[in-house]
Amino acid sequence: MFPEYRSEMEYVCQDCSSRYSAMELHYTCPSCGGVFLLVDKDFDSLGEKGGQHWREMFDTRAACKDPALSGIFRFYELMAPILEREDIVWLGEAQTPIINSTSKLESEVGQKLAFKNDGQNPSASFKDRGMACAFSYLQSMVRRQGWDQILTVCASTGDTSASAAMYAAYVGDPIKSVVLLPKGKVTPQQLSQPLGSGATVLELPGYFDECMMVVEYLADNYRVALLNSKNSWRILGQESYAYEIAQWYDWDLSGKVVYVPIGNAGNISAVLSGFLKLYQLGIITALPRVIGVQSHHADPVYRYYSQTPESREYQPVDVKASVAQAAMIGNPVSFPRVRTLVEQYLDKGGRDSFTVVQVEEQEIIEAMLRANKYGHIACTQGGECLAGLLKSRSEGLVDSGETAILDATAHTLKFQDFQEKYFDNDFPPEYGIEPKPEYVNRPEAVFSDEVRGRMEKGEYIVQSAREIVKKLGL
Ligand SMILES: *Cc1c(COP(=O)(O)O)cnc(C)c1O
Ligand SMILES: [Zn+2]
Repeated sequence: MFPEYRSEMEYVCQDCSSRYSAMELHYTCPSCGGVFLLVDKDFDSLGEKGGQHWREMFDTRAACKDPALSGIFRFYELMAPILEREDIVWLGEAQTPIINSTSKLESEVGQKLAFKNDGQNPSASFKDRGMACAFSYLQSMVRRQGWDQILTVCASTGDTSASAAMYAAYVGDPIKSVVLLPKGKVTPQQLSQPLGSGATVLELPGYFDECMMVVEYLADNYRVALLNSKNSWRILGQESYAYEIAQWYDWDLSGKVVYVPIGNAGNISAVLSGFLKLYQLGIITALPRVIGVQSHHADPVYRYYSQTPESREYQPVDVKASVAQAAMIGNPVSFPRVRTLVEQYLDKGGRDSFTVVQVEEQEIIEAMLRANKYGHIACTQGGECLAGLLKSRSEGLVDSGETAILDATAHTLKFQDFQEKYFDNDFPPEYGIEPKPEYVNRPEAVFSDEVRGRMEKGEYIVQSAREIVKKLGL
């Protein structure tokens, strides 16, 4: 059964508090240029039904076969109760598994831990949660406003463009997708996803930041939908990550610590906002602790929160090369969101409910390799979370009775270049990474091409088999 509840939504500026109706497409605040969060004007009325009502509702929907309610819109009333069923696009995103680590890894770390594999989303990163929301909203605008053409644009070198291009390809007319990339600054894998989805891929000489400025100029002057994470529809969709964690643990988040890598800070904003909404409605009665993780090569949010509350001053940083490349951002656009949400979070969850830890490049890549040697599929940012857990344990910020839930934000295959660089000892000096033999794994040649050339086929088969027997000690 499709939900009946409908409401009105508003964009709320995080800088000047202006409000705008969600019936218009806004990217940033027309008054001050600030970033928005989206709110349901009637949100409090949902609380009148009580937590039990919603827990049962969402659990019942978990068995539902309606594609429109199978992804982020399982939590329809908390998501975007201005959409109709026909607006909703679902490509298999969301409801990603939480995989407990083996007892061996747990005893090494000294802590119960699990990875939530958001790399098992369709374009292989969590970005699909936000894109599903943004595209569903765009479809509703097409339906309501009768737009005959809408161009979606993003500047990206990685997961955002892959996701945007995939949803645009599926939805089709009248939505078209354009991706702006800095020429020569993306790997072939990063380029292949939007190309395969048939997006128009435009290259600009220069860096990502310049591409971003071109895109914002387009958004200011033409009717284009900007899909970078300033777009508050994306943040809204990403809140589903928090809802799923709560549901998986039967709505009991006491003793849970959620680790999230911070880049542009959209994801951590969504996670904080999501848990706060559940708490406000009485759907959960304990907030989990949230720990953000940043590399020492891109750590403006860590620096902000490591100052004493009275002296805190936000300063962008110049980034250095990072294996957690998707989080390699010196001036996160969602920082104003983080600041307000963290205040609320600390207020409701207590002094220890939010913190940020800093980890080193070497720790990030080795944590990823270590997790994956125990059967996980963590990307470098997932490795960053495990490194953050190890760091916070060594600093006494968590105790062994707590359960850590680590965000593996993308599939490890997207970031295989970094694994290869580690195994081949091929990192440029700016990463400061020295491979350790225990983490290195390389293919072993059984025979050289030359030896193969000297043998008949039959002989080669037998000799190869014997050589393998010798190597494996069979
Ligand atoms: C975008 C991205 C991040 C960073 O998320 P923010 O919302 O920018 O903080 C981390 N990991 C992966 C794989 C990403 O694609
Ligand atoms: Zn404003």
